[in-house]
Amino acid sequence: MIDYLPLKRITAMHLDEIQQAVAQTVASGWYLQGESVARFEKEYANYIGTSHCVSCANGLDALRLIFRAYIEMGIMRPGDEVIVPANTYIASILAISENNLIPVLVEPDIDTLQIDNRLIESHITARTRAILIVHLYGRCAHTTNIARLCQKHKIRLIEDNAQAHGCTFEGKRTGSLGDAAAHSFYPGKNLGALGDAGAITTNNEQLAQIIRTLANYGSSRKYVFPLKGMNSRMDELQAAVLSIKLKYLDRDNLHRKRIAQRFVEEIKNRCIILPQAVGRDNVNHIFPILCPHRNSLQQHLQTHGIGTLIHYPIPPHRQQAYAEWNNISLPITEKIHNQELSLPCHPAMTDEETTAVIDSLNRFHE
Ligand SMILES: *Cc1c(COP(=O)(O)O)cnc(C)c1O
Repeated sequence: MIDYLPLKRITAMHLDEIQQAVAQTVASGWYLQGESVARFEKEYANYIGTSHCVSCANGLDALRLIFRAYIEMGIMRPGDEVIVPANTYIASILAISENNLIPVLVEPDIDTLQIDNRLIESHITARTRAILIVHLYGRCAHTTNIARLCQKHKIRLIEDNAQAHGCTFEGKRTGSLGDAAAHSFYPGKNLGALGDAGAITTNNEQLAQIIRTLANYGSSRKYVFPLKGMNSRMDELQAAVLSIKLKYLDRDNLHRKRIAQRFVEEIKNRCIILPQAVGRDNVNHIFPILCPHRNSLQQHLQTHGIGTLIHYPIPPHRQQAYAEWNNISLPITEKIHNQELSLPCHPAMTDEETTAVIDSLNRFHE
């Protein structure tokens, strides 16, 4: 059986180091807001290339905290609009609507699966305060056009970097390209913890300070509360594990790239489309293919012992949670959600497994 994402094998790649770090943390008697968190924040800011990194409990909180902070700063007000790709994971959109901001959905480009540059400007209004780009599937969503639009209309650029740790744009890492970025270290991400964890990176000191305060009950120093905050902290165990895994991130991403290269070169089947983000960096968090017979293809692979996932089966505007959008039509987004299938692609995958996936795909016919 070839699992879609065998986390046990991925953790086993560095088991001794991880177990040692966990044991040390357990023995230390210090479990929150300690040295491991401070060290990871420094290492990760350094890796991404920003002056600040604030850790938090998960990726959704990282996004929520960024918008909350901009509201506290008076830069955004309830009712303001934020542009976001329509085919993103729901967390990106939840963070906007939860802060009483209005998500403005923009269709992706079917070739790159990223927000369609040509459609952004027509969605900008007097109330637009930010573009939230999502480096979906591990592909860079940023372009010089987006940077130009943000400058021209004086709006913030925020990155959802949950799926793209290590990705770059013109030599800079995603997560350092805009005003602020949210990162998730959910176990299945390229940089994954052994539980929930997240972070915000930014070069804006005031923003970082407000986010740090908000994430700790709104407390600036012990028992003093200038803001109505929340409890969203990364714990010492996760930070210690992440510091270890960060050392291997570039190597792991390279391994994913080699698998992806083989998929691109060796998958030859007329009913399978490989949407390639040509000219964009890609850390291959997810390797998506499109197939009009997606469900029978998934069944076929399952029969050959190959696990796959769909990212994502129902787009946000078709979810009951966003009933107000259920009748709008976003045909590109809907097509992706109807045809997308994600192939196994991870740092512990062997050449034999990659070959088996390719062979099975090439043998499929509807
Ligand atoms: C995983 C993910 C998130 C949320 O991260 P959590 O840590 O699970 O809260 C946000 N956005 C995108 C695009 C994601 O893939």
